[in-house]
Amino acid sequence: MIDAEQVRALPKAEVHVHLEGCFEPADVEALARWAGEPIRHLDVTGSDLSVFLEVLDWTCGLVRTPEQLARAAYRFAEREAHNGVAYADLIVNPTHWSTWRNRLDAFVDALDAGFREAEEDGLPPTGVCISLLRQQSPAEALELVEWLIARQHPRVVALSIDGNEAAAGRTGPGFADAFRRAAEAGLHRTVHAGESSGPEGVRDALEYLLAERIDHGVRAIEDSDLVRELADRRIPLNVCPGSNVLLGRYPDRSHHPLEDLRAAGVRVSINTDDPALMGHSLVSEYVETAAAYGWTLETLREIAHTSVEAAFCREELRHQLLDPR
Ligand SMILES: [Zn+2]
Repeated sequence: MIDAEQVRALPKAEVHVHLEGCFEPADVEALARWAGEPIRHLDVTGSDLSVFLEVLDWTCGLVRTPEQLARAAYRFAEREAHNGVAYADLIVNPTHWSTWRNRLDAFVDALDAGFREAEEDGLPPTGVCISLLRQQSPAEALELVEWLIARQHPRVVALSIDGNEAAAGRTGPGFADAFRRAAEAGLHRTVHAGESSGPEGVRDALEYLLAERIDHGVRAIEDSDLVRELADRRIPLNVCPGSNVLLGRYPDRSHHPLEDLRAAGVRVSINTDDPALMGHSLVSEYVETAAAYGWTLETLREIAHTSVEAAFCREELRHQLLDPR
């Protein structure tokens, strides 16, 4: 039986987590009171992805000032430190933050201030993956990428895309230009696929969006050729088993394909997705996943190792974490 302390001590990164899903109930209450809005019930257990995304929009809409945004960033770094995370790639999707529409400079600067303060206080460093929403247009995607390239903000490490693919339909080809531009400019690419889309979404992510990593990607298991390709190309899957079970993709952890993907040689890491909204933590996700599959600490160490290899962190930090002395 693996315990929380053993997991906390593992050198690891978190590479699939959304700031939008990291607001503790007490923080949401305080923000709602400040904004003068009635408090909404935040329990999303058993809700589908569309209800879930609506709750996210409401929460983020309460964040109105740069100080509140910086505070959210700082609180995120505290959460990661508490789970023994040494580095995090954090997905932030500007479309959820209504106050900050068309103020991307101010938005990223405010986040950066919070992360900088956190690092000064000894909390783990965070890289930001700025995310498109699947429902956006190809023109909006290009506009965002041109901003990322022109601004070259040191806090931003990657272009991401998330949102409900079941609702948006096939969008890979439409976003191909934006992701190609990002790749040419040296930005990393991480792509949500194979959760609300099937294996074809993962194929599009690789072919059209030049994905270096796949967020979720678990439905690749439905296509054995694709599983082999992911393993051969060493494409990491940033898996969130608790999230997939909570949102009804799989009935429970034992039916989740994580172990089959791992056994087939696919590189997998464990992540929280939206930990505060879902009521779990990175430590509890490691512990519960290990229990579901009967994993040893050595297997968890391999998973943690993959998370560090997959991270868009500085090489110096990666080497420190992979070869701790
Ligand atoms: Zn996600």
